[in-house]
Amino acid sequence: MSKIADAWDLLGEGLEASNLVTCSRWASKRREMGAPFPGKYGWKYHPWVREILDSQASFNYAMKAAQLGITEVAINRALFVIDRLRRDVLYVLPTALNASDFSKARFNTALALSDYLKRLFTDTDTVNLKRAGANSLYIRGSRGDSNLKSIPVSDLILDEVDEMEQKAYLLALERLSGQVEKHVWAISTPTIPNFGIHKLYQGSTQEHFFFKCPRCNKWTEFLWPDCVEIVGETVHDPRCKESFLKCKECGRKLEHKAKPDFLRDAIWEVTNPAADSESRGFNINQLYSYTVTPGELVVAYHRGMGDEAAAKEFSNSKLGLPFLGEGAQVTDDMIDRCIRNHTTNDPRPEVGGTRLVTLGADQGKLGYISVVEWLIPEYDRDLNAVAIAKLLWFGKFGEEDWGILDELMREWQVLAAVVDADPNINEARRFARRFWGYVWLTRYRKGLTAREMSIAEEDNAPIAQVDRSNWLSCSLGRFKVQPPRIMLPRDISLEYREHLKNVVRTYEKDEFGNPKLTYVSTGPDHYTHSLTYAEIGLPLAAAITENQDITKAY
Ligand SMILES: [Zn+2]
Repeated sequence: MSKIADAWDLLGEGLEASNLVTCSRWASKRREMGAPFPGKYGWKYHPWVREILDSQASFNYAMKAAQLGITEVAINRALFVIDRLRRDVLYVLPTALNASDFSKARFNTALALSDYLKRLFTDTDTVNLKRAGANSLYIRGSRGDSNLKSIPVSDLILDEVDEMEQKAYLLALERLSGQVEKHVWAISTPTIPNFGIHKLYQGSTQEHFFFKCPRCNKWTEFLWPDCVEIVGETVHDPRCKESFLKCKECGRKLEHKAKPDFLRDAIWEVTNPAADSESRGFNINQLYSYTVTPGELVVAYHRGMGDEAAAKEFSNSKLGLPFLGEGAQVTDDMIDRCIRNHTTNDPRPEVGGTRLVTLGADQGKLGYISVVEWLIPEYDRDLNAVAIAKLLWFGKFGEEDWGILDELMREWQVLAAVVDADPNINEARRFARRFWGYVWLTRYRKGLTAREMSIAEEDNAPIAQVDRSNWLSCSLGRFKVQPPRIMLPRDISLEYREHLKNVVRTYEKDEFGNPKLTYVSTGPDHYTHSLTYAEIGLPLAAAITENQDITKAY
């Protein structure tokens, strides 16, 4: 009897399975959810996920606010592709630790709640590899040496791209672009403009979620601040919770709790018709959320007043939009203000003269050099704070051509040269030994405060360890003050300008979840680092000349 019942079960399951051709239908049958919406997976409270789940486009980019059910979309896609489409999936998270947490928390929970999925996966013992019969789900972190390019899949899921090693995921995307069959889901809360998910989203259809206003019947969308009546004036104002949503077409109030009704038939609309329909982008904010109230949004908004880190958090996590703080990026206007009449061909310093010149080199396949003279109007313990920088020369060198640095040392009478230690540490050490006492290798290190420098000797070469953010703040800060504290030659190149503009100040969360200032690159940035290394050279050069009264030289 029980055998027959089993057979009926299997037959029923087979019939049902043949209907589960879309990811949304599949998920609604195969996934069981925990809090906050327990039971079968559904989209009543986040109707925007359905079309993202079922998109047939090759590239899908979701630029999203926090807690809108989008990560669950990524998990559903991964499981659906393995179960129904019988293909392997590479699921990438920012770090190996994130990957292992994901494997233990999200993946194992999905299995624990669903008997079907529990049976589907035949081997789940390995943290970063889950097998379902012949198919595999690879779970990887983007940082370190996990070589994403070498895992041969046509289905790639990138979860939180803005936190990833940018080179790693771009290589993984590049590898797929040559394939006929490919499916990418990249999702993230954005951070800064032209970076990570925002960069991907900009090249996409840029779809917004439109609904019919229940008051005026016009098609519209939720936008900040047009659609929120802000009540209350500060974070602690109890009236904030009286804030409410409104239609930007008719101005009438829309009930927060009625969202499941009026969003039920909402649709994704393309706002960038010029884009290839194979690159779909979706943007969604917390005004749509059923769990976040308008009052909570308003409190978060007030918190961002006069607090850049909180303003960023509001923009990124609540509005799903990138954020650029005041003065976060060097602009062309700032660069123009720094240009003076000198050129890189001006006469070189006299041998044995008193000019204070440092050199910074950012090495790699191509190395980038900045030669900087320092003008010191008054002597101070913190020379970097008082000195005016004058960029004398800049240029590049090939990885086989370290000899050029020797020539530049003599040509510019360099007192301190600072070169990054990696990737070619041996060449850097040899250079340091040729100019013993005048060359330092450098490496960025965590745990140092301000512009503190820790100098050690490693294999017969001095190595200066410094905090990256503080020194970038110092060198880039020169462009942002009025009057500027750096002078550029009038033949500064377009490339140098681009490298300066590509390093942008933002915030990341530290290990305790507190915002911490950091710099990210939106493109090539080597000249910026060479300039920063020249800046690090200033106190080192001053130490060499400390027995001379350098103030008299100027
Ligand atoms: Zn309306």
